[in-house]
Amino acid sequence: MIRNDSARIDPKRRATIDHRKKQFATPTYQQQDYPHRLNLYHVPPTAEIRLEDFEQWAIDRLRILAELEACSFRNKTPAETTEHIKPLLDNWLRLDANSSSPQGCTDLRLQDQRRKDHYSHFILRLAFSSTEDLRRRFTRVEGALFRLRFQTENARERQEFVASLSLDWEAVSDQEKRTLAQDFLNATPNLKKSDIEDGGWFKVDFETVPELVEARRIFVKGGKAYVPSKEQMSIVLAGFHDRLEQGLELTARALPRLDEDDRLSPILNHLSNNFAIPDSTLADSDTALSGATINASSIDPLSAHFPLCMRNLHMTLRKNNHLKHFGRLQYTLFLKGLGLTMEDCLIFWRQSFKLITDETFNKEYRYNVRHSYGDVGGDAVRRGRGYSPFSCQKILTEHPPGSGESHGCPYRHFSVDNLTSLLQVTGVNDRDVLRGVKEDVDKKRFHIACNRVFEWAHKAEIRQVKDDGTWKAADLDTIVHPNTYFKRSYLLKRGVADDPGQSQPDNMEM
Ligand code: SF4
Repeated sequence: MIRNDSARIDPKRRATIDHRKKQFATPTYQQQDYPHRLNLYHVPPTAEIRLEDFEQWAIDRLRILAELEACSFRNKTPAETTEHIKPLLDNWLRLDANSSSPQGCTDLRLQDQRRKDHYSHFILRLAFSSTEDLRRRFTRVEGALFRLRFQTENARERQEFVASLSLDWEAVSDQEKRTLAQDFLNATPNLKKSDIEDGGWFKVDFETVPELVEARRIFVKGGKAYVPSKEQMSIVLAGFHDRLEQGLELTARALPRLDEDDRLSPILNHLSNNFAIPDSTLADSDTALSGATINASSIDPLSAHFPLCMRNLHMTLRKNNHLKHFGRLQYTLFLKGLGLTMEDCLIFWRQSFKLITDETFNKEYRYNVRHSYGDVGGDAVRRGRGYSPFSCQKILTEHPPGSGESHGCPYRHFSVDNLTSLLQVTGVNDRDVLRGVKEDVDKKRFHIACNRVFEWAHKAEIRQVKDDGTWKAADLDTIVHPNTYFKRSYLLKRGVADDPGQSQPDNMEM
């Protein structure tokens, strides 16, 4: 389904595809129609798309899935989750209803939206089918996305979608309803007689509706569950889960054949790494902070807005008048991301290294700072721009700190006792927050712990910008970059009239 983009394919390689796998070399391309906004993703896509779309659509979907997972980790209620995800969906994975267009589902705009949704789902299946853990997580978040869309779909189009499914439902006859009416009333809380007489009822195998059986909300007899039509979502959702689980198993078995395509493997590997914590790069606009003075002498007061990784580096620097190599690199790039110029950065480091001479500083440290800014060394791409500030994913997964080093992420690289002490030193003394952080860390949700602390430290300000509508829910999505933490904290605490939409990096690093 990938368009042959000549710039990215080695023609010699194409010509030598194993003849036993020819079915992969000569697929039948076919454009699909999408009569409904909702999709059970039963049929894989077979039409061509560009490699760039393959990558970008998957990244856009991944943003949504990562946010959904973060909402569940942060114990958001279904209503809060819907409020939080809705604007993100509109941004990254918009799906409009048929009723939004006079041409209905034939509108090309709707077809394009649905095509992106369809393809991105199947691309992520490839990325997340390799291990049981990834399959389970993918099924859970895709199920959550489907549920959210199903619930927010308008009633008529939802009914049309359900009617189009060939699910194994058997309608309960009026005669049977009358015979079992008392059993229905006994088994289902808050059910009225009129609900039985007026509403539609279905019989399904009881294993297909585990949620309803577990919650004792329906009558079960002879292995069949009797389900009122208003509980239809449970059935559809169970069908969605079953199909997806089976589909992922099949995909996992086919995965080794994909190894022969070296265009896709790196993309898929990167996508699955991004599931734990989405990667991001800092756009140039993210460094702009209107009204802020960023220079060598303002770093101390600004450090109150730093995330724990950078607070730790700053405090260690002030205590020891020195930082080791990776600490300097992580911190220099973060300061660069704040908007600190190279000249000011050099002044900052020179003043911070109080115990060494100018000569030693110039000989041993100046070059590295200039290199980070792209002033010296590096290849043509890096020259002039230097290196990007590290994202949480990079800090969490690369170069763990050794003895005497202070870089890394304290939520990941500190013992729980040391982490708790550091949090308390920086003013986090709420017992519930500290307990939540410990739980997050135990479950290896390091960036969620960081977001938990952020939300606690900015509770009043977040409530205010939400109440007065100056920030949208999308401006408060999960923080996955230390510079985002800083900028968001600064804007919230100062009440600066800046565009909060710029506060989150908008491109994932590939
Ligand atoms: Fe820093 Fe990210 Fe760790 Fe927070 S989660 S402390 S921002 S690396």
